[in-house]
Amino acid sequence: MQRVGIPHGLFYYYYYPLWKTFFSDLGAEVIASSESNRLTLDEGLKSAVDETCLPIKVYFGHIRELCRQNLDYMFIPRLVSVEPKSYICPKFMGIPDMVKAAFTDLPPLIDVTIDVSRTDRRLKQDIVRVGNLFTQDKKKIRKAYIHACQEYYFCSRLAREGYTRAEAIQLWEGKPVDSFSTGDLNIGVLGHGYSLYDQFISMSLIGRLRKMGCNTFFPESLEQEAVENEAATIPKRVFWTLGRKMVGSALYMDKSPAIDGIIYLACFGCGPDSLIGEIIEQKMHHKPFMMLTIDEHSGEGGLVTRLEAFCDMLRRRRMRGEGNLPAYG
Ligand code: SF4
Repeated sequence: MQRVGIPHGLFYYYYYPLWKTFFSDLGAEVIASSESNRLTLDEGLKSAVDETCLPIKVYFGHIRELCRQNLDYMFIPRLVSVEPKSYICPKFMGIPDMVKAAFTDLPPLIDVTIDVSRTDRRLKQDIVRVGNLFTQDKKKIRKAYIHACQEYYFCSRLAREGYTRAEAIQLWEGKPVDSFSTGDLNIGVLGHGYSLYDQFISMSLIGRLRKMGCNTFFPESLEQEAVENEAATIPKRVFWTLGRKMVGSALYMDKSPAIDGIIYLACFGCGPDSLIGEIIEQKMHHKPFMMLTIDEHSGEGGLVTRLEAFCDMLRRRRMRGEGNLPAYG
C-alpha cells in the first residue's frame, strides 16, 4: 500500500476530508502529521524564510515531521483559485516551490494545481494524472473523486451548523468533540481557518471564548449568499476568496442584532490581512471590534487579558445600555 502524507496545516482545515477520501478510495494509506505544537513551529522556523507568515512557518514544521515518515508521496497542492474569478493568497500558489527549495529529503511531491478560474478541463486532467499514480482505472478515479466531493460537502454542512472546521473534521473521523454550554455573549470570530481553527496558532482562542461564556459564530456558519451580498457592497471587489468572506462576514455580523462583538485574528506578516483587517476595522459601525495580531512570539497571557477585557466591556456595555462608538466615526 502506498503511503501519502498530508501536512496538518493551511488547506488541511478546508480540504482534508476531500483528499483523504480520494487517496483512500484509490487504495493509498493517508498519513496526516500530528496537530501543531511548539516542536512543529520550532522545526518550521528552521526551514522557512523569516518573511513568511506564521501559518506557513507552522506548515513547514508539518512537512519536516512528514519527511521522517517513510512516505511514497507528499501531497502539497498549488492552490491558485477555488472559486471562479477569486484567488488564494500568492503564498499558497508558491508553496510547492518554496518547499522544494527548503527541504532536501522530500519524498516525491503531488503538486497538482487547483485553478478553477481558468478551466475545469485542466483540473480534471490533473486529477486523473494524480489518480494514475495509484491506479490506471479511470472509472475508479472518477468514482473516488465524486465520493471525495460528497465527504467535503458533508463537512461543510457540519461547519454551517456551528462547528469549527477542525471540529467538523473530528466528527467526520468519528472522534468526539468537546461539548460547550450556551453563554450570555454572542461573538463573531473571524480569521483564516488555518490560524483560527489550529489550536496552537490561535492559542485556543475559540475554546477560551467559550469558557468565558461566549457563543461563537464563524464565517462558515453564516448564510453564504448574504455574506457575498455584503462583501459586494464595498466599492472594490476583494478578489481573495478568504479575504472576501471575512469582509462579507464582518459586515453581516456588524448589522446582525444577535451579535455582541467581533474579533478578528490576524497573522503578523500576512499581506492580505494587513489590508482586509484595515477595511473591516473601518467598516465596523455598530459592534465593538477587536483585532488580534499574532506571531511566533505571542504569549497566552496577553491573549487572555485582551479577551477578558473585551468580554467585560461587552457585558458592562449591555448592563448600562451603552451604544457603540466606532473607531472611525
Ligand atoms: S493569507 Fe496571510 S496568513 Fe494566509 S498564507 Fe497568505 S500570507 Fe499567510
